[in-house]
Amino acid sequence: MKAVALAVAIAAIGDTHGLPPTLRCALDPSHFEAMPAPGPSDWLANHAEPGQTFEQFVASRPNRPTPQRRTIYLQPLGTFDLGPIKEWTEAFFMMPVVVRPPLDIRFAHITARRNPSGGQEQLLTSDILALLKRELPADAYCMLGITMIDLYPDPAWNFVFGQAALRERVGVYSFARYDGVARRSCKVLAHETSHMFGIEHCIYFRCVLNGSNHLAESDARPMHLCPVDLRKLQWSIGFDVIERYRRLETVCERAGFADEARWYAGQIQRCSKFARGSSTVFR
Ligand SMILES: [Zn+2]
Ligand SMILES: [Zn+2]
Repeated sequence: MKAVALAVAIAAIGDTHGLPPTLRCALDPSHFEAMPAPGPSDWLANHAEPGQTFEQFVASRPNRPTPQRRTIYLQPLGTFDLGPIKEWTEAFFMMPVVVRPPLDIRFAHITARRNPSGGQEQLLTSDILALLKRELPADAYCMLGITMIDLYPDPAWNFVFGQAALRERVGVYSFARYDGVARRSCKVLAHETSHMFGIEHCIYFRCVLNGSNHLAESDARPMHLCPVDLRKLQWSIGFDVIERYRRLETVCERAGFADEARWYAGQIQRCSKFARGSSTVFR
């Protein structure tokens, strides 16, 4: 299994001529890390994913936020500290994020079980997705259930980190297998919510959208988007890339994600000069 050739990765970004200069700078592949060849237990060695170029993404006619549906709802299932999750999601997607009051799952008719081997409490994902679908607000782009309780998708399975019903705009993610709500949780939320925009797994650069087979692999992937997927999200939402990077830098600094804050600072320094002297905000 070889790494994707750099020329293929660069081609996946598509033609950037005619884009605003700041966006073109942000999409410059030389500021990103090439995807290394996968190890034997890594995702790409076990899943033959073709990748999704920017042009294929646009051709797939993905869901996009509309003036009527542009709020991301977070629905905690149970009471726990959300840490930087709300600010992180707001900055990452540049969309309004509303945290709903915690839902007491004891009264929500969610099927639960004790894990056959570990004995811990687990909730059935399909019941939660059905509940979220019933509760979906009219202005929701999507609604994401978050829980500290472990999940299972089917009695035959041991556990699952999360599950989404993309067309129904709902997903549920458990942070039970992480140490609290921090870096891993923010990364999972960015990854899974990006799928809600029709963005598939990334094979081109090191990217938050890389698939992962195990925790060490997901820990190794960065928290930011590669140029291919940044272009997709920017096309979908229409944010100003520098404004987004500034907000992400602040959130990362506050949350203690120092390496990511430095990465954003570098990109801001490189690309904000292209916006200087211009009063136009490109959308
Ligand atoms: Zn994924
Ligand atoms: Zn990517």
